[in-house]
Amino acid sequence: MRCCAAIQAGSLPQRRDRRHGSAAKPMGRCALARIPGPVPGSPALPASPSRISRYRLPAFAVALVLLVGVAIASLTAVAGLRSSNAWIEHSYEVINQIEVVERSIRAVEANARAYRLTGHPDFRSEYLAAAPEVDRTIEALTMLIRDNPDQDTRARHLRDIARQHLAELRRVHDLQEARGAEAARLATDPGTVLRQWGEIEGIGSQMRRDELRLLAERKAANHRQAVQLSVIVILGMLASGAIMVILMKSLTRENRRALGLEKEARGAAHEMALSMDQVNRLSRQRHELSRYSGLLQSCTTRDEIVQLSIETILRLLPGASGRIYLLRASQKFHDSVASFGEAMISSPDALLPEDCWALRRGQMHMLAGVDRRQLGCGHLDPGMPAPGVTSICLPLSAQSGSIGLLHVSAPTEQVDHGDGIDELIGQLAEQLGLAIANLQLRETLRTQSLRDPLTGLFNRRYLEESLGRELQRCERRGLPLSVLMLDVDHFKRFNDTHGHAAGDALLSQIGRQIEAAVRDEDIACRYGGEEFTLVMPELDAASACARAERIRRQVEMTTVQHLGQQLGPVTISIGIATFPGDGYAPHLLLQMADATLYRAKAEGRNRVLHVSYAP
Ligand code: GH3
Ligand code: MG
Ligand code: MG
Repeated sequence: MRCCAAIQAGSLPQRRDRRHGSAAKPMGRCALARIPGPVPGSPALPASPSRISRYRLPAFAVALVLLVGVAIASLTAVAGLRSSNAWIEHSYEVINQIEVVERSIRAVEANARAYRLTGHPDFRSEYLAAAPEVDRTIEALTMLIRDNPDQDTRARHLRDIARQHLAELRRVHDLQEARGAEAARLATDPGTVLRQWGEIEGIGSQMRRDELRLLAERKAANHRQAVQLSVIVILGMLASGAIMVILMKSLTRENRRALGLEKEARGAAHEMALSMDQVNRLSRQRHELSRYSGLLQSCTTRDEIVQLSIETILRLLPGASGRIYLLRASQKFHDSVASFGEAMISSPDALLPEDCWALRRGQMHMLAGVDRRQLGCGHLDPGMPAPGVTSICLPLSAQSGSIGLLHVSAPTEQVDHGDGIDELIGQLAEQLGLAIANLQLRETLRTQSLRDPLTGLFNRRYLEESLGRELQRCERRGLPLSVLMLDVDHFKRFNDTHGHAAGDALLSQIGRQIEAAVRDEDIACRYGGEEFTLVMPELDAASACARAERIRRQVEMTTVQHLGQQLGPVTISIGIATFPGDGYAPHLLLQMADATLYRAKAEGRNRVLHVSYAP
């Protein structure tokens, strides 16, 4: 079985190489779908991504954790930086406040001294205004450093010393106010003032140093935090970035693979659809061919066979045209017995076997319009077939050999489908050839059963069959019919003299002469032995007599060539009976003609006789 509906991997139907008329592969007739391989033109697919895709989710999680970690670390570090910046600022504020305290003490000191030396009231009012400031600045300093116990202790100490110093200045001021500048100068103890001032400066320096140390430490911590933050951010970003890049690449590859698979799937679906289309077409074509085979069995005439074949060809190839040729009896020419379709390529009404490659080689000869390397048949016009048209010559063969030719021309796209339509047409041609050969054989057999082999005339069986029919026909139409009975005179003597074979040759020649002398509608038979019967419809007795006389004379004048010898001539006697005068039934007419023949014999032979019994 050459056709199958199964779907096999990688087995698309292979196109036949029509140019050489040979099947490329056994798959030629099978329309099969295939499991798709790579679609031509699609990019090479990457290796299976299962290994990467297994790690994709954890990698995403790691990247996410890294990003979240970087974000948290950044926020923490920023908060730390902000805090340490605040502390740095705080240190600067403390240092600044220490200087403010020192400046305020110095201002009080300077104004008090200037007032003592000059007694100018402006300095006094300056002094009185600046004195309370000292306490306020020290209070502000104390507020700033209250978190630092060491500094706090020092600040309290500074406040005490400053207060003592201010009290001393106040004492001198009050003395100056009460007793004058000289008394105040004498009451001033430079040692106490210097000691107090020295202590104030010492505490201020110590506090400044300590604060500068703290500032340096905070700056260093701040720098460390900044570096750590940078490292965390850079490393985190690099790591998550690297994971993202890998994931992106993996996704891109996956995407590409998915696209490739999708394209492949689309290609496979398309091919599947084409294959199904091909299967359907093939199945329809096969159905047509099997219908053709079935109907062919029932055809009884050549015209029916030809008509059915043309119909089937046009169903298989709707755009086709062509001719059916049959070999003439002379065996020389192929005559066109039918043409069909709107001729795309003209081919003559009669062609010689040497005009066609298919007839010469006994096999299909196909020629596509564009292919000029192939040999064109002589029966086609030069330059034919035109581009886009394919010419197919198919010999019609039987056991006896070639009996004709089927020439089909069709649009190349219809023939070139790759579904073996040419093979189907080839099978149709085979069946057509066999059907016509069978019909011819049947006709030959039928003829043989009705003909006498020696003379080629109809036999007695056919005479009995047809005489009744012809008589009825003439009776219906009111026409006459004549029956002639012929007998060779002294044939026994001829046989005895020249031999039986010579007698046969003579009978054969008389048969040919009778055949040549009668009309198409007459029925010439060998009745038996050397007796012949002629049925002549629509001929009355007089006309029948005239014809019989002509035959008699012809025989009388002819000699027979046998084994290089001239034999004869012989004579014949003819008895005639005519409907309706001599009888109404076939057997009566035959009897009457026979009786008249005997009478002619009796009257001396070599004569034509009709005896009218009509009243
Ligand atoms: P008549 O003029 O009275 O008809 O004489 P006849 O000799 O022709 O008549 P007859 O009926 O006596 O002889 C017929 C002969 O024809 C007898 C037979 O040998 C011969 N005959 C019959 N059939 C054939 C045949 O097929 N071939 C040959 N060679 N001779 C045949
Ligand atoms: Mg006889
Ligand atoms: Mg005879």
